[in-house]
Amino acid sequence: MKQADLTSTEKQVLLTKLEHELSDLEQQIESIHQRSAPVQLDQQAVGRISRIDAIQQQQMAQAGELLMQQHLLRIKQILLDPEEYGFCLECGESIGLGRLTIHPIAELCIQCQSELENL
Ligand SMILES: [Zn+2]
Repeated sequence: MKQADLTSTEKQVLLTKLEHELSDLEQQIESIHQRSAPVQLDQQAVGRISRIDAIQQQQMAQAGELLMQQHLLRIKQILLDPEEYGFCLECGESIGLGRLTIHPIAELCIQCQSELENL
């Protein structure tokens, strides 16, 4: 199914949304850095279990941060080259407004994405 190209207004709306998301992500990453700054573990005050908890929480935050960093990079990439935005990296067809509204950083159209996932 061929999707219609985005109009410039539609594209602008999506790009503005991405700009907001970019600054949100930057703030979130910043706050993770503040929270996970060298875990201060007082061996006596903090029991073994909560120490493990603290480390697990930090690991989760780090995993989350990695995803956020990837997300952030993708948004930066889009904003650097907005001309290319909205087209499938694989087949070059328009990704379509519906898909981009739900998943604004989509790189592939629905068809290429499902082919990739069904490999
Ligand atoms: Zn495609």
